[in-house]
Amino acid sequence: MNSVQIPQDVRKVENWIAGRFESGSGPELAVISPYSGTKVGVLRASTAADVDRGVRAAAQAALSWGRTPLKERCGVLFRFREVLLRDLDKISQTISLESGKTLAEAKAGLLKGVEVLEFALSLQNLDAGGRMEVSRGVFCEYRREALGVVAGITPFNFPAMVPMWMMPIAIGVGNAFVWKPSDKTPMTPALIAQAWKEAGLPDGVLTVVHGGRETVEAVLDHPEIRAVGFVGSTPVARSVYERGSRSGKRVLALGGAKNPIILMPDADVEMASRGIADSFTGCAGQRCMAASLLIVVGDGEKILDQVVEKAKAIRLGPDMGALISRESRERLVKAIEKAVEEGATLRLDGRQAQAPAEYVGGNWLGPTILDHVKPGTSAACDELFGPLISVVRVKTLSEALEIEASLPFGNAASVFTSNGAVAERVAQEARAGMIGVNIGVPVPREPFSFGGFYDSKFGSGDITGASGVEFWSDRKKITVKWSAASDKNWMN
Ligand code: NAD
Repeated sequence: MNSVQIPQDVRKVENWIAGRFESGSGPELAVISPYSGTKVGVLRASTAADVDRGVRAAAQAALSWGRTPLKERCGVLFRFREVLLRDLDKISQTISLESGKTLAEAKAGLLKGVEVLEFALSLQNLDAGGRMEVSRGVFCEYRREALGVVAGITPFNFPAMVPMWMMPIAIGVGNAFVWKPSDKTPMTPALIAQAWKEAGLPDGVLTVVHGGRETVEAVLDHPEIRAVGFVGSTPVARSVYERGSRSGKRVLALGGAKNPIILMPDADVEMASRGIADSFTGCAGQRCMAASLLIVVGDGEKILDQVVEKAKAIRLGPDMGALISRESRERLVKAIEKAVEEGATLRLDGRQAQAPAEYVGGNWLGPTILDHVKPGTSAACDELFGPLISVVRVKTLSEALEIEASLPFGNAASVFTSNGAVAERVAQEARAGMIGVNIGVPVPREPFSFGGFYDSKFGSGDITGASGVEFWSDRKKITVKWSAASDKNWMN
């Protein structure tokens, strides 16, 4: 199947508790496909009582899962990987249907999540703990311990990949994981839960509770949950961090972004124009690593012309997916109008783009390039989250870095140049957590971890890699002395 299939029936979406589907008991929510604008799913949000039932099942399961040897746990992770790869097409169809991604993007996202799973699998060989004779006859050892019940709250834009940043590591180190997916993309989680079950994950080790704000608050307030990973927009990330921390939890909350690309006049024309066009149009600009601000230093005309040509050639449907909701499209249309009122010129106007014939009711917007955007205006500073890039002109690299530093976010920043010293200066001085040199979407891959700075992340450490292992576990320190002959040491 090369296209996204819109089902005629409306699927019922349910929570996953103790290895079984069961309905939430809160208000009804509809799942609308961004492709067609039609209702494709329906669910009941989870109340605090529903969440509590899921957490209790998780707590029960965590007892024996945490004591299962790491190598055995990794056996389940290994089989989970096989099921995901076998079902790649099926899962990608559902991801696309509910998130608006193209099928190629849906597959790429899932495969990126599998990379984190492969990192978690490697823990069986690498995470050997440590032991040392710290004083004569006295040995210190550390052992990694699971926390017990932990939770992950995830956004719509990567229905499988972002949860896979958390789940394999959190479950791999021995926790039971309670997942609150985006209420806009609740159907993918059912397939992932079933894949875990088929892989042999004991019932209760994964719980899925659907819903919106009320469900999130029930998760944040639940005393049994020890750690919460969150990925979503900055205002929600900040409030999740504050509320979760207040109730004594370990919280890592990744937020939104406004990622700049600094374009130097010596950049390679093809590499730069391809990198810029792909970055702001990929996933219809709905990714936290998308560039949405292009800071052109000096003369970038030739490259800019090429960016416009490449963006113009993008076909809605086969090359670029849809926006998550009608409201999201309306918000972007208003943002374009406002930018023009504030003096920007439209180099490419996505409002004119043709919706694909088979998906006319969907939320479509073509690539949009706003030129001569003034620094400090909304188009230059705010996360707009669509296929839109704002071009700001400056004379020097120092001015470009000043603009980068003035942004509240700090997720990613890239530079296109053929000068190594310029690239190194950007790597050193930019305030973002992930830097690209001649790369438009500088996502680090495992074992390098993922995470930004400032308003793009609340809490310490990163969500994947070794940081993720530390976040989802504790290190217990054991100090041992067996021999009386070792009594003459500092411990007496
Ligand atoms: P969102 O903040 O609206 O939702 C994220 C999660 O929080 C969802 O599960 C949602 O149901 C829940 N939620 C929504 N409103 C809430 C509220 N008021 N109180 C409690 N919970 C609430 O984000 P989104 O629209 O689903 O995703 C897009 C955003 O996520 C963008 O800002 C994007 O940059 C960001 N994002 C960041 C990263 C990163 O790594 N930093 C990765 C992916 C997406």
